[in-house]
Formats: sequence, C-alpha cells, structure tokens
Amino acid sequence: ERDAILRRQSARESTARTYARSLPIVPVRARGLTIEGADGRRYLDCLSGAGSLALGHNHPVVLEAIRSVLDSGAPLHVLDLATPVKDAFTTELFRSLPAGFADRARVQFCGPAGTDAVEAALKLTRAATGRRGLLAFTGAYHGMTAGALDASGARGAAVPAAGAGVTRLPYPYDYRCPYGVGGDRGAQLAARWTESLLDDPRGGVEPPAAMIVEPVQGEGGVLPAPDAWLRRMRELTAARGIPLIADEVQTGVGRTGAFWGVQHSGVIPDVMVLSKAVGGSLPLAVVVYDQDLDVWPRGAHAGTFRGNQLAMAAGAATLKFVREEDLARHAADLGARMLTQLRGLAERHACVGDVRGRGLMIGVELVDPASGGDGKAPYPADPELAAAVQAECLARGLIVELGGRDGGVLRLLPPLTLTDEQASAVLSRLADAIEAAER
Ligand code: PMP
Repeated sequence: ERDAILRRQSARESTARTYARSLPIVPVRARGLTIEGADGRRYLDCLSGAGSLALGHNHPVVLEAIRSVLDSGAPLHVLDLATPVKDAFTTELFRSLPAGFADRARVQFCGPAGTDAVEAALKLTRAATGRRGLLAFTGAYHGMTAGALDASGARGAAVPAAGAGVTRLPYPYDYRCPYGVGGDRGAQLAARWTESLLDDPRGGVEPPAAMIVEPVQGEGGVLPAPDAWLRRMRELTAARGIPLIADEVQTGVGRTGAFWGVQHSGVIPDVMVLSKAVGGSLPLAVVVYDQDLDVWPRGAHAGTFRGNQLAMAAGAATLKFVREEDLARHAADLGARMLTQLRGLAERHACVGDVRGRGLMIGVELVDPASGGDGKAPYPADPELAAAVQAECLARGLIVELGGRDGGVLRLLPPLTLTDEQASAVLSRLADAIEAAER
C-alpha cells in the first residue's frame, strides 16, 4: 500500500513538492513525537509540521478542543464574524502577548498560512506609512507568496523574486561572519553597516515602510538574533519612524524558550506575524500590531478563510497549555541540555562545524573539512552530507529537516512536550546517522 501510494502521488504531484521528496513515508497515525507509517514503521518526528506542532501530534487537549466545536453544532464557516470560539482564542492570544504590547494591540485575522500574515503585515505598514520600501535580512525566510518572497533571502531564490523596493541588510551569522570576527563584534559591525546604509542619502534605500526580522532565523539555518543586535535594530527603526515587524511564525508559542522570540531581548515590535503553532496544528494566521498602525481602510484586508473555528479552538487550547505548563521554560532547559550534548558530538566529528539554537529550535551545521576551504575554519557547508545524514536518520526512524543558506544545516523542531528520554533517543539516532554518513 505504501509503495503504491508513493508511486501514484509522485506521478501526479507537482515537481515543486518538497517534504515528500526527502521523506518518503506515508503517515497513517500519529501521537506526540511519534508518526506511524503505512508500512507499520514508527518515526520520531523532529520536523513537527515545520514547527507548528507545539504539543506534538494529536495532543489530547487539542483533540478535545476540536471535538467540542464539532459536537456543539457551531457553524464551521463564519467568514470573520465574531463567535464564542473566536472570542476565546483572541482572549487567550492577548493574554499571552508580551507586556507592553498586549495593551496597545489590535489583531487582524489573515488567510490560513504564515505567508498570508506576512503579506498583511507588509500591506499594513505600507498603508500606515505611505511608503513602499522594505528592510529585510540576508538568509531570511518569510513565505512563498509574492511579497513574502521578496522579503526572503534564502530559499526564495529557487524562483526569482521581484524584489521591488527591498533593501537587504546583514543578519548576524556568528559561525560565518563576513567580517571575519564572530560574537558581539560581528553583530556590532552588521548593525553599524545597517545604520550607515539607512543614513546614506545615496545608499539607494527606498524610504522604508517597515523592517521585517525573524528573532531566530529558522529556514535560514537556525540563527538566533543576538539580543543586543535586535535591540539596536529596534533603536534604529524607532528613531526613524520605521515600524518593526517581528516574524514569529516559527519562533512563537514557546519554541525558543520564551513565549515569543522577541522576549529574550525585551524588544517590543510594532507588528508581530503569527501562524504555525498559534493554530494548534490547524491553519491559522494573524498579525498583531500597535493600535497606532490601525489606520488602513475598512475592508483593506479581506479573504474567505479567516475564521477557521477548529483552528481557533485548537490554537486557544495550545496557547493555554503552553502558558499553564510553562512549556517555554521546559523548552529552554531541555534545549540547553541538548545543545550541550550536541557540542560533544561536534568535538568527535570534524564534519559537525557548528551547533546552535534557542530552546527547541536547534541547528547542526555540517561542513566538509576535506574540501580545505580557504585553509581556515569554517569549512564550506556540506549539503550532500546533510542530505545523507537526513536519509540515515530516516532509516533509523528519525525525521529531521534541512535548512540553511546552502542546505547544510540539520534542523530539529521537536514538540515542546519532548521528554528527557525522547530527547536522548533523538540524539542517539542522530549521532548514529552522522557516524554512518560521514565520509
Ligand atoms: N515566516 C517564517 C519565519 C517561517 O518559518 C515560515 C514557514 N516556515 C513562514 C513565514 C511561512 O509560513 P507558511 O509556510 O505557513 O506560509
């Protein structure tokens, strides 16, 4: 059955399909960290719906929330009308927002995916400022629709973006700092470059409607923004009247060890873009923003599917569970222990160039020491090795994702409910896979 399904799908589906290429499994059941395939094999899922399953697959509180809507006879499709379900979601969302933001916040429900909320944020800030330009970062990923693609600097390159009005600024990448110095100094230089560009009248920067930033770049290779650098971006934008958009699609809801990724630095953005875990594993996306920006005309942002009642119920249950169980703290603690163990792995294997992350958003950058590079570390990224490790992981019942500017970074996005024993199982399978794939 498994092979027949895979054969039919690959004959009929677009060549642009992605996960289905590197993960040839046919999931039929799932619970928590575990997916069971049609062939009866079980997998530890550290992809978690691209980071959207904060509580893992089919968590009881999520299932119960969905069931209670289904059993209540409430309408499933209500456009964007007010309902008790929406009220409960909005209340829980506002309760979780950073202090200093929540009391001034407005929410706009968007189309179902993260990329839709990015579009809404870009549109909102253009409407509010009357400007068009956008400040975005190297290696960024914001989605696959036109505006989000323009803002992206990573995988978006697969199809050329229009790139209209986008100024690309350097995002700190400690391990591969283009200035040749890592740590605070590299981030300071990146910030200074940004500042000089913004203030250079001949710099070619179109007057910006916004700056958009990920508190931790995910698809770009799991790069946490240094706190001081992010605070500097906040200062630079605030001083120039440029709204700051935090794309928390992947970093939100406890993932990085704080409820929101911006909270590590204490930065209060003007706009937060939320999706993935906010819908508790079902499609939901919102922008939350300062009320002063709420000047776009009535009907300026519409769409048929902005009222998914099941997603709102699942999302409210997820937000509540993460808050009440303090899963952000759990993610911070367990993530730190996993990073320590992974650093041990890096000491034993020359091909593990860098290990980094925040909370349960973890990246392992694989490199090719044999290539020699330019004779000094870091060695070039090794996307072939990363793909081989991913395949060896799958053979051992572990699902990991790849990312990074060259595709050389293994990414782990396990559920926030991950236990110590599960983490050990994940790390030991990963270590075996690296051992097997290393040339
Ligand atoms: N922004 C970020 C930071 C993301 O990680 C993603 C998805 N990986 C998106 C936006 C786009 O979300 P979606 O795939 O739901 O459109």
